Amino acid sequence: MSNIMDFGFDDSKVIKAAGVERFKQDRAGKIDRVSLIAFKTYHDVLLAGKAREKGSALTDVEKAELCAKIDSKLAGNLGKKPEELTEVDKLDIKSPRFSFAFTHWGDGVGGIRCLSTYEGTTLVKAELCCDRMGDADQTVATVMLQYPVDKNTQVDMDLLRERKYTELWIWKLSSKKFKKVEGAYIDARNDNRPVVDLKITLDGDPRYQKQVIEVASSATWAREDTDPEIRLWVLKQGLRAYKYVKDSLGFEMKKEALAEKLGGQAASAAALAASPETSASKPALQQSYDDLLS
Ligand SMILES: [Zn+2]
Repeated sequence: MSNIMDFGFDDSKVIKAAGVERFKQDRAGKIDRVSLIAFKTYHDVLLAGKAREKGSALTDVEKAELCAKIDSKLAGNLGKKPEELTEVDKLDIKSPRFSFAFTHWGDGVGGIRCLSTYEGTTLVKAELCCDRMGDADQTVATVMLQYPVDKNTQVDMDLLRERKYTELWIWKLSSKKFKKVEGAYIDARNDNRPVVDLKITLDGDPRYQKQVIEVASSATWAREDTDPEIRLWVLKQGLRAYKYVKDSLGFEMKKEALAEKLGGQAASAAALAASPETSASKPALQQSYDDLLS
């Protein structure tokens, strides 16, 4: 059976744009107003807290008991039954969610996921990528909503209501940029504003995407006076787009394919590993202790 389909523009909705594009600013001094809209669940946050308290990972039974308790409390607060809770109901909008990975960037290879083994952030077994491309970078990504704004970078609520000039992006951050975002959130939290909009200004050449990151206000989409329908739409978009976040953290290349990509030097490194000089440099085992004593 063929899986080729005939269609016209009237039924072209079968063609879906894949993934979510990466946020980039295109001219020096450009100011965008955005909000981070992927969130952890209350369950994630509370279970992590309990594990810290306990000093070790929770058992499945402990997790199940805690989740049931959280569901029942949450449902009670929302006037629902636990089984009626939606994915959106479980989101803790005070806890932005990020994905993290070790990555490399190389000419001819592009952005790839580091293949080495880590325990937490400690490298325990280096693979070819680290040997050849140097230490991996810590890369973070999340989902961003970009607002429609007027010339003073104030949110245009009418346009937002119509979802016009309202963009969803994956925001990929170096560890340095992530620290800036974290700093902005810490300031906002200290100021009793846990859910915020950010103002991002491109500082210099667009090639480098150096950005000034500041808190703009409490998050427009989450404010009490914002249409609940917009709020729901934003949270759903955050959940949907988060599925693409992982893909932005470097291409997961197989070891063999990477060795091939890295070409000549990789092949000679492999040859070197198998060469007699290498084995000769290993400590040689003695046949017998007796020989050593005679
Ligand atoms: Zn690596």
